[in-house]
Amino acid sequence: MTAHDIGTLVLLGHPVRHSISPAFQNAALRVAGIPLTYEAVDVEPGALGDRVRALVAQRGAGNVTIPHKAAVAEMCDMLTPVAERAGAANTFWVQQGALAGDNTDVAGFDHLARRVLGSVPLGARVAVLGAGGAAAAVCTAVERWPGARVTLCNRTPQRAEALAARFPVVDRIAARAADAVQDSTVVINATPVGMVDDAVPVDVALLPAAVGVIDLVHRAGETKWVRDAKARGLRAGDGLAMLIEQGALAFERWFGIEAPRDVMWEVACKP
Ligand code: NAP
Repeated sequence: MTAHDIGTLVLLGHPVRHSISPAFQNAALRVAGIPLTYEAVDVEPGALGDRVRALVAQRGAGNVTIPHKAAVAEMCDMLTPVAERAGAANTFWVQQGALAGDNTDVAGFDHLARRVLGSVPLGARVAVLGAGGAAAAVCTAVERWPGARVTLCNRTPQRAEALAARFPVVDRIAARAADAVQDSTVVINATPVGMVDDAVPVDVALLPAAVGVIDLVHRAGETKWVRDAKARGLRAGDGLAMLIEQGALAFERWFGIEAPRDVMWEVACKP
């Protein structure tokens, strides 16, 4: 696919105003000389079907964020194996009139994990807090880590059970975050906790020594959880690297050229 095949480029979500994706995607488009604008479009769940059908007619492409990733995957005529496995699409495009979907969150998460942990860990005991779409993307990545096992913990236990039923890599469900992290070597926040305030998903004092701390949430200046973890001397990182990498991989999917990651980082890190 090339820029000529794309009529319009959007980010579908609700709410979507807070997203920094338009800033770094538009900077990447300018640097690459692609005459398109990446526009955030707030779509109520009830209006998603009509909006997606209109985008197919316009040869639209783009990203999908909360809460539409699973619904867009359902609407796609074809999905990459990774989007199929995650049950969610965060990237879409139109190919010969058909809607195609991918999930670049999975590789984006893997990239973040490698940055924090140094490499893919062997035999990791991974505590995943949350059981929504982001937790499904994490499980899709972690099930490929050699010897990894996942302990899930979620506010609504039924949702943890449903996710565990889809991913055999989950061999335990814990009722409390403090129990989930007890013997973990990696702990991952896949809830929105810490996005709008200084709430933490679990007190870092409860984490084992030498655990790797990965927060999917991103805030300017990092989340309090990540700051606390670093202050305790733990390896830790927030969701910025995942956000940029999923965006870079989507850019490459749409345009078939390498994404200008350095420019994306520069814009995303601007205060
Ligand atoms: P989702 O499908 O709506 O799931 C949210 C999950 O968080 C659910 O398991 C929910 O539990 C739990 N949760 C929500 N509020 C909570 C609270 N106050 N206390 C404890 N648990 C709570 O959302 P998602 O797509 O998984 O996204 C989750 C977060 O991941 C997002 O907020 C975003 O910050 C982050 N994310 C980051 C990236 C990135 O590129 N960095 C990509 C994707 C997602 P219940 O089941 O009980 O409702």
